[in-house]
Amino acid sequence: QIENEVMDVSMPIFADKIHLGEVRVGFSLKTLNKEISEQISSFHELGLEKRNEALTMLFFLSLCFIAVGIVLAYFLARDMSNPILELAHYAQRIGQGDFGFRFSLKRKDELGLLSRTMNEMALQINEKNKALLDAHTLLEKRVRDRTQELLLAKDKAEAANRAKSNFLANMSHEIRTPMNGVIGMTQLALLTTPPPEQREYLELIEKSSNRLLKVINDILDFSKIEANKVTLVEERFNLRDTIATTIREFSFKAKEKGIPLNWSVQDEIPDAFIGDADRLSQILINLIGNAIKFTQAGSVTVRVTKEYAELDELIAHFSVTDTGIGISPEYQASIFEAFSQADESHSRPYEGTGLGLAICARLVSLMHGHIWVESPEGQGSTFHFTVLLKKAPPAELGQNGNGTQQELPAEPSLAHTGTQLQILLAEDNLVNQKVA
Ligand code: ADP
Repeated sequence: QIENEVMDVSMPIFADKIHLGEVRVGFSLKTLNKEISEQISSFHELGLEKRNEALTMLFFLSLCFIAVGIVLAYFLARDMSNPILELAHYAQRIGQGDFGFRFSLKRKDELGLLSRTMNEMALQINEKNKALLDAHTLLEKRVRDRTQELLLAKDKAEAANRAKSNFLANMSHEIRTPMNGVIGMTQLALLTTPPPEQREYLELIEKSSNRLLKVINDILDFSKIEANKVTLVEERFNLRDTIATTIREFSFKAKEKGIPLNWSVQDEIPDAFIGDADRLSQILINLIGNAIKFTQAGSVTVRVTKEYAELDELIAHFSVTDTGIGISPEYQASIFEAFSQADESHSRPYEGTGLGLAICARLVSLMHGHIWVESPEGQGSTFHFTVLLKKAPPAELGQNGNGTQQELPAEPSLAHTGTQLQILLAEDNLVNQKVA
């Protein structure tokens, strides 16, 4: 472009197809114009031959100017665009997280400054990255060490807990043997028709011993479960008979308190199962015992329904409902923890160790079920639990459930059979031998 006696030559600069700018070189045409006008004025004075000569010279001179302009613009553009392309390439590497290179354009202009600044920046980022990586590695190591320490502490705590449970289990066993002697001897002494005053004392000894035995049994059981020493037996049993026998244990107490004790098993549930009837009965004993203990009026109901059944397995849902004092919502959350009892004023009048429900919860979980409680205010409580039962082939045990309140089976009596029985008894404790 030629304007105001200046010829502008411009060349664009591209880096990766991006237009970064352009190099412009301006030539002043003043001298040339002056030369031309001088030439033109002298032109007319020249002859034809000289004129042609002058024109040719002018033509070549202009051509020279243009050629020099283009070459200059080309070199200048190359001088600018190459370092910019190089900078762009390094910027890209930095962007990709590659800091392992050094570069600097050996130039004294702005591009040189830019390259040195970029280099400095890459160095700093690299150092910060390294510091960050070191901190990360250190942190990881600390977490690993801490986890290791915690695992060790956990193992130690678990070992200590097992040792404690072992000790308790052994101790409880040691205490149970003489307790049997105390209770047995007291019962024998009661059979000797003692005078009334002695009878009263003996009955008190018997009652206290039984309470003590219950506490010891709870502790023994709980520590056995905690020490992972309880394995469930797999035996064929009749569900309805097991429930009936358990209920019968409480019939006297329930009658004494005037609380009807009802139970029902849903029709669809078969009789024959394979599992640990004693442990199932133990859960029921704890729940029914509590229900009667904490109920002054009303009734206690045990229900069994089918929650889910497959060809050879069934999840049974047991519930024990009472119309007793109920359980406050805040206490419900911790009721299945060991040694937990509702606030003192609530359970003070009732004896107990606070272990019964903890034992139930652990047994239920051994039976692949879960346990929970519902106690709407002022309406008593319902304890629910589920257990997974293996169905036994029904051939050996007949079905007799009718789904409504059941008649308690009669106590078996040997008195009427008139059969003589031979009994083999094995007992190593001298006192217990005598009792037996
Ligand atoms: P305990 O041997 O003390 O009865 P449990 O673990 O069986 O131990 O019960 C813990 C506590 O839970 C009881 O002391 C009582 O406060 C509360 N509880 C259990 N069952 C009932 C119930 N049916 N009604 C009201 N409170 C109950």
